[in-house]
Amino acid sequence: MDGNGEVQQDGAAIAMGAPERFRGPLDVLHDVFGYQAFRPGQREIIGLLTGGTSALAVMPTGAGKSLCYQIPAILSERRTVVVSPLVALIDDQAAALRANGVNVAAIHSGRAREANVEEWRDFAAGRSKLLYLSPERLMTPRMLAAMKRIDPGLFVIDEAHCISKWGPSFRPEYEQLAELGQHFPNATIAAFTATADSATRADIADKLFHGNGRTIVHGFDRPNLQLAVQPKTNWRRQLMEFLGGKEGQSGIVYCLSRRLTEEVADYLCEQGIKVIAYHAGQPADQRREGQDRFMSEDGVVMVATIAFGMGIDKPDIRFVCHLNLPGSMEAYYQEIGRAGRDGAPAETLMLYGLDDIRMQRQFIENDGENDEHKLREHKRLDALLAYCEASGCRRQALLAYFDDASEPCGNCDNCLHPPKVVDGTGEARALFEAIASTGQFFGASHIIDILRGAETQKIAERGHDKLDVFGIGKARPKDFWQGFIRQAVAGGHLVINIQRYGCLELTPSADAMMVGQETFSIREEALMPCAKSKREEKRAARVQAAANELSERDQSLLKELKALRLDLARERGVPAYVVFPDATLIELARVRPTSEAQMGEVNGVGPKKLAEYAEPFLKVIAAA
Ligand code: ADP
Ligand code: ZN
Repeated sequence: MDGNGEVQQDGAAIAMGAPERFRGPLDVLHDVFGYQAFRPGQREIIGLLTGGTSALAVMPTGAGKSLCYQIPAILSERRTVVVSPLVALIDDQAAALRANGVNVAAIHSGRAREANVEEWRDFAAGRSKLLYLSPERLMTPRMLAAMKRIDPGLFVIDEAHCISKWGPSFRPEYEQLAELGQHFPNATIAAFTATADSATRADIADKLFHGNGRTIVHGFDRPNLQLAVQPKTNWRRQLMEFLGGKEGQSGIVYCLSRRLTEEVADYLCEQGIKVIAYHAGQPADQRREGQDRFMSEDGVVMVATIAFGMGIDKPDIRFVCHLNLPGSMEAYYQEIGRAGRDGAPAETLMLYGLDDIRMQRQFIENDGENDEHKLREHKRLDALLAYCEASGCRRQALLAYFDDASEPCGNCDNCLHPPKVVDGTGEARALFEAIASTGQFFGASHIIDILRGAETQKIAERGHDKLDVFGIGKARPKDFWQGFIRQAVAGGHLVINIQRYGCLELTPSADAMMVGQETFSIREEALMPCAKSKREEKRAARVQAAANELSERDQSLLKELKALRLDLARERGVPAYVVFPDATLIELARVRPTSEAQMGEVNGVGPKKLAEYAEPFLKVIAAA
């Protein structure tokens, strides 16, 4: 690599200088990344940044945020600094850029000091024109002074919502980034986030740009994600039904606790499924190994706590299943957003039960922060529960939460199988009466025992068998009442009081119902889940149809291409998708290029990758 960083046709690395052969962003997209067209929003943001306008871009996970700043960085005469909070994220981004022939430097705490010094030298000397680092490393007086001498043209703030106290994941070390503009008045600032409601957006823009920047919101809609929520009745059965027809696909199963994570992983293993468990209680190298396997092997199911996934950029994750209620809509959106980043269909399923609601409330109460914060978090949880119990389109409900209007999607569980809504006012009155007449002092299981006329010691001791409502709901099974209470909680008629050990309390709307002023509609289906629903059957058929799109002959070639990719990825110590994403392999299997030139036409094959991989891939294709 020569000092002034000219880019050569043979795929030599891209370093300093504005490489003459790129006439504009589209050239870089083709010639460096090997993609044919921009995705929605990319061109606009790249245009702003190359024109020197600071911008906040709110785009969903998988929309392709990285290219929005990587292309301006490659085109710029000056250097670019990318602030990113996570070591794993930094390493993955750096590996992906290097695979496309772009020199990058990365400084972070996961590396030895000498290695960091070396990376800094590369950046300072212009051998790398991009530097990734964490916020706390950038904002030290020493680093700022050194950085001023380099005079970067672009600062990129990834996961920018961390700067806002309004958001759910505020990080104190991000707060200082508000001073960036004063330190570097001649630099453009680009901020990216996938989760920010309107208040959070305004706050981020205000802190980073002080009014001199644009905010661009690009739809949160991820039409390729199928949304579904079910009440948890029997997670083993529900999970196995969901996994039916997904053999050979990669996916994530999220659990709230380490214990459940292990239990689920053991169970799936017994069922003959290739599975890895991942949680914060494991030694670091075990976690690392699990993550590497998930990234590089096909068809692995990762059972994990939410400790897993931040910064996981695996584009071909085909499903995400939550066995517990997520922490908030933001968390849910981010977690399901890890599926289908390649744009191909992906399925999501969330199971939730009363225990989950109680546990999440408990977390919020124990979180120790001030009351205002707790109140806000409880409200967030309420919004999530309302989503779970929604009887209309899920996607519409999800997007509405992020202030995005949309039409019914036709692809979620509620659109495909509209739930039947029935009148439950009579049952509601009985339930509320049972709660009221026992002093709003008991949790769901005791209240259900009363309604069903159970002869427990607790009931006898307290004389609850003398109540008018004792046994009044005998005709209904326990499951029914659990579902009913869940819906009453989600509908805001009951609250679970965590400070009083999870007892059920009535809200004003429940009072109104008891005196006959309001009625209560419930989702019938949610109350009586049946064994294998029509929904599951249809879903399995759809998955099969997608897989059948490739001919049998192409399928077998695809398998070989995947095996080759895995070998190449292992040799290089990078995740498989860094070699080629799934979409590219599928196109290769379909198109069957016979020359380098033909292979270069395939989406996702840039010149660097062509030089490196054409030979082995063409060989496998020719032999097929
Ligand atoms: P985000 O950061 O928004 O979650 P990424 O930047 O990681 O998303 O991009 C997601 C995936 O989409 C990556 O594999 C990336 O290479 C791919 N991608 C980005 N832009 C394009 C494009 N214009 N055409 C095809 N693939 C793209
Ligand atoms: Zn829908």
